[in-house]
Amino acid sequence: MRYIEPHGHMVSRTTDDYLAMVIAGCRAVCEPAFWAGFDRGSAQGFHDYFSQLTQFEPSRAAQYHLPHYCWLCINPKEAEDMALAHDVLALIPEFLGGSTVLGIGEIGLNKNTRNELAILEQHIELAVQYDQLILVHTPHLEDKLKGTRLTLDALRANPGVKPERVIIDHVEEHTVPLVLDRGHWAGITLYPQSKATPARAVDMLEMYGAERIWINSACDWGHSDPLAVPKTALEMRRRGHSDQTVDQLLFRNPHRFLSQCAKFAVDAGAI
Ligand SMILES: [Zn+2]
Repeated sequence: MRYIEPHGHMVSRTTDDYLAMVIAGCRAVCEPAFWAGFDRGSAQGFHDYFSQLTQFEPSRAAQYHLPHYCWLCINPKEAEDMALAHDVLALIPEFLGGSTVLGIGEIGLNKNTRNELAILEQHIELAVQYDQLILVHTPHLEDKLKGTRLTLDALRANPGVKPERVIIDHVEEHTVPLVLDRGHWAGITLYPQSKATPARAVDMLEMYGAERIWINSACDWGHSDPLAVPKTALEMRRRGHSDQTVDQLLFRNPHRFLSQCAKFAVDAGAI
């Protein structure tokens, strides 16, 4: 079996995790910029983080022969500080030329505030200006539906956005159709608690088809499972899905979306 982990916060994970992922068939890992669990104190802190994502982490993954890519942004939790957010937005272009940078993400909303929305709109404009892919985080629990609608409207309001170059992540049963109807891709996040389980992910696949859906573990510094994606293959096989469908959801779909960025160079022919 082969798969791509399209959303893993590997700076938080151990080398044992890299080894386990590669043994399970991981062919590439993509790391969006996110919240570190605490608020960074300055734009310089983000400069260091972007350097870690673009230089150190790819070299760590390379020890396991695993291609490592990343996405850059200031996350919505820290976007509430508008002055800091503007300073960080100004830093991003100098990193966009990096050979492993795929786009802008994971941007989005957390508490659906006015400031978060303003910074989301500025990230979208930055992505349009630099012709970047966009990866969007959607809020948790009770804020998810409203936050998803606000995000979709912000994307539609920018005429430079190409819907097929945007993935909306952390979708659930009630937000998948909204995202797919707008022409975007949908990401299902597998968490031991909250978000989706493998069984719910396969339910959504069966309800909405696998055309523009990927799954990810979003493994980070919290309770999460870096092997959640390959474990979902087991749930699919239990329900009688073919090897081709497993390969589509776990490998070919993320490969198709990510290949819209020419830097994503992972061989799709090799089994
Ligand atoms: Zn994340």
